[in-house]
Amino acid sequence: MTRTLITGGLVITAAEEVHADVLIEGSRIAALATPGTQNWTADRVVDATGKYVIPGGVDAHTHMEMPFGGTFAADSFESGTRAAAWGGTTTIIDFAIQSPGQSLRTGLDAWHAKADGKCAIDYGFHMILSDVNESSLKEMDGLVAEGISSFKLFTAYPGVFYSDDGKILRAMQRAAGNGGLIMMHAENGLAIDVLVEQALARGETDPRYHGEVRKALLEAEATHRVIKLAQVAGAPVYVVHVSAREALAEIARARTEGLPVFGETCPQYLFLSTDNLAEPDFEGAKYVCSTPLRPREHQAALWRGLRTNDLQVVSTDHCPFCFTGQKELGRGDFSKIPNGLPGVENRMDLLHQAVVDGHISRRRWIEIACATPARMFGLYGRKGTIAPGADADVVIYDPAAEQTISAATHHMAVDYSAYEGRRIAGRVKTVLSRGEVVIDRGEFKGRPGHGVYLARSTSQYVR
Ligand SMILES: [Zn+2]
Repeated sequence: MTRTLITGGLVITAAEEVHADVLIEGSRIAALATPGTQNWTADRVVDATGKYVIPGGVDAHTHMEMPFGGTFAADSFESGTRAAAWGGTTTIIDFAIQSPGQSLRTGLDAWHAKADGKCAIDYGFHMILSDVNESSLKEMDGLVAEGISSFKLFTAYPGVFYSDDGKILRAMQRAAGNGGLIMMHAENGLAIDVLVEQALARGETDPRYHGEVRKALLEAEATHRVIKLAQVAGAPVYVVHVSAREALAEIARARTEGLPVFGETCPQYLFLSTDNLAEPDFEGAKYVCSTPLRPREHQAALWRGLRTNDLQVVSTDHCPFCFTGQKELGRGDFSKIPNGLPGVENRMDLLHQAVVDGHISRRRWIEIACATPARMFGLYGRKGTIAPGADADVVIYDPAAEQTISAATHHMAVDYSAYEGRRIAGRVKTVLSRGEVVIDRGEFKGRPGHGVYLARSTSQYVR
């Protein structure tokens, strides 16, 4: 068994910061010790003096190769997980999709086939329910038992992923019984479709109208509604990609009432705004995603929510479409722009920048990006921390390094960066996935197929 010793670094977890040597045996962390107090021998010694030693990032919201609007998200599981590794993320949870008229199993099998043997880092799946009926509800029980313990439903996208309130309630009731966690995309899709039609009829076709019709109030309304449906069902609920402060207020109020309501936001809502959507010459299309970017004022509310724990997780909703040939499908009609942004490679760095900027503490960085997503989705202990027995998913992070984010240097298979030219303090130096070096000083050392599928237990926040 290969023994790896990481010496001299500052080990940061959600719980503490401590100068410690970390001993890895094979694929797992074996022990931590005060520097210099043990005579450990190792096959490989990694000097982390002056660096942070942090758990690999857990990105609980990605869409590799996702079909949308007649095209597919540009990153495959191979390119997307490699890019994730470059950015210090060692686990992704992607979304398998049930198509209307099909079983959950058929959708899940298709996603396993896409990912199997391709991933550079470990991966799990949530299941998107697009067709709630007696048989798909029954299938949920079996999926929870085999490691797909979370299910996403939509109040948005009528005719595609949309479920009505009755279907959402049924799925929540089922989850209350089988221990599953319901994840909600909360926007009032029926009302938004009316506003889209009216905007287009007025000749408002530019990307910025995508943000105007998907109103904050319609995010807040749907957030309120799914919280109440969950309360009626006696089920927990996790609201994905919260972008509006009004929606966050609904979550905060529910949490104050003691309800098991959880909220996720994404880097694009923390760092970008409707100013980006308004960029001229159709450049705004690069920033079209749903929920949409909001006016700048919403950012402060989201940062506060992350500090007060009204928001618990930052995931990327990585769903990249190239500007050329994909985003361009919506020239002259913003409603035809594929929804989604690239970001799986940038999340850990952007959140480190937030530490430098004083928005969050170092431990909170690790909590929202590693530990809580692992706990939320039944992976904690294996993932999300540095402790004996955990998988040796470890990032040596250099807080003193500097970098400039750019499509010219990123590793995602997409022709633009949403953060082009942004200067970041800090950079990944070395990344280990289950004890194997996958990134080291600017070189990719991993391989497709190293990453394994993770069967997850139920959410560690639910009973
Ligand atoms: Zn998504």
